[in-house]
Amino acid sequence: MVRAHSTLSRRDFMKAIGIATAGIGAAAAIQPKFHDLDELLSSGNIYKNPWFVTEVDEPTVEIDWQKMQRFQKGKYNNFASHLSKEEAAAIQAKTKADYQKNMTQNDVPGFTLRDNAMKLAGWGGVRWRMSQATLVKEMVEGWPLIPTPTVLGVPKWTGTPEEASIMLTQLLRYCGGSSVGFAEINETTKKMIWGQMPQAPNPDIVFEEAPKPTYDATAKKVIVPSSSRYAVVHTIRQSLDASARVGYLSDGGAGTAYDNCDITQWRLMCFLQVLGYTTIRQNIQGNGPIVGWGVMSGLGEQGRMQHLITPEWGPMIRQSTMNIVDIPIAPMKPVDFGSRKFCYTCKKCSDVCPSKALQGETEPSWEITQAYDLVKPELFNNPGLKTWYFNHHKCNRYWQESDTYCGMCQATCVFSKDALSTVHEMVKVTLAKTSLLNSFFIAADKSFGYGLRPEDKTEEWWTTPLPVNGIHYENDVFYR
Ligand code: SF4
Ligand code: SF4
Repeated sequence: MVRAHSTLSRRDFMKAIGIATAGIGAAAAIQPKFHDLDELLSSGNIYKNPWFVTEVDEPTVEIDWQKMQRFQKGKYNNFASHLSKEEAAAIQAKTKADYQKNMTQNDVPGFTLRDNAMKLAGWGGVRWRMSQATLVKEMVEGWPLIPTPTVLGVPKWTGTPEEASIMLTQLLRYCGGSSVGFAEINETTKKMIWGQMPQAPNPDIVFEEAPKPTYDATAKKVIVPSSSRYAVVHTIRQSLDASARVGYLSDGGAGTAYDNCDITQWRLMCFLQVLGYTTIRQNIQGNGPIVGWGVMSGLGEQGRMQHLITPEWGPMIRQSTMNIVDIPIAPMKPVDFGSRKFCYTCKKCSDVCPSKALQGETEPSWEITQAYDLVKPELFNNPGLKTWYFNHHKCNRYWQESDTYCGMCQATCVFSKDALSTVHEMVKVTLAKTSLLNSFFIAADKSFGYGLRPEDKTEEWWTTPLPVNGIHYENDVFYR
């Protein structure tokens, strides 16, 4: 049910989180500017972030643009690239024997045949599209079945960058996007475009002059012309109901959300083509580091787990998908709402990670591979960020061993909450304004048992009524 009106006061909030308003040093010291929730929920433009989210000139993750280079993605596979063929085959053979046993006996929660069927239903659309041989051409040059203004015999759409941003935000929200951001592709942010398309046959991505985005199959290159210098970024919410149930159900939660990302960017491409503009889109792997584009377009902060943490739904989005467009838009600024600062204290995701892929050190670092054996420079340890580097090989190896996409870190995060709760909202407000209570909030989150569902609750997913798409749409800060 949508809560349209709230009268939660500062005193109620302090009571709810167990802090008496008088006589507690921390509470007395912080004096954050508490607003009534009504004020929080009605802060200006409905698509603007709540008032406690601050726009900043520089992202909260430190970036050394001199060090950063375009990531040469190519066919790099962070599982197989670190193993001999024999080692990889042995892991896969054992995984196969395990899953056959599980899906025959159907006695391991989260790993039954029906759970696996749900997973593969979620991923079905993505896998089908990625298998299409002509996809790169359509991704770059558009879909011939959709008309352009020339075909329609009308002039192309024109408007100011601000009008374009509002129009695209509205279109993407309608088509499934949860939040929408915009950024410029300039000499600096160009470094956040992959060196090659992630879609087979993985042509190089080059910045050259051309009348429009072009795929040159002979030269195996995709040309990004100078007119294509804007990034439209949108998030898609992912079901916490599914993602908190470890196994194939959590995997299916990710797959369904990825599929929705793909569908939404397809719709954006069609929309812009009719208006007379172009997009360069990708499969689910994006045009560049998706978290980075989410940060640069003001949709969230980069957290310890290397996901984008959004002010609205934490990391329960999949993903900050970036499309390269030539319609001039109004760029947005990065944001700070205290989540990255919170990650210094909170280590819930690194504690829960079964493969120990996430770094548990308090301080982020500029160091890249030195701390890890085996890891070659790749997406999550591409130089130029001061962050908690992530051993994606360990993570990916765990995916192979468990036959799942895991995602325990995502569902465990303190910012992953479905409930439309005034307490959760006020916690966000508080930690955006002060880090003094961060330890308290982490302890409270653990003691309330938030995060992954216990194993004996996993299969309840099949018999518990779900919201549409498994997503609590009533928890939408932009519309409630
Ligand atoms: S997906 Fe799983 S294995 Fe990978 S980092 Fe997250 S918790 Fe660890
Ligand atoms: S679980 Fe904690 S440390 Fe990990 S990303 Fe979320 S807030 Fe940050």
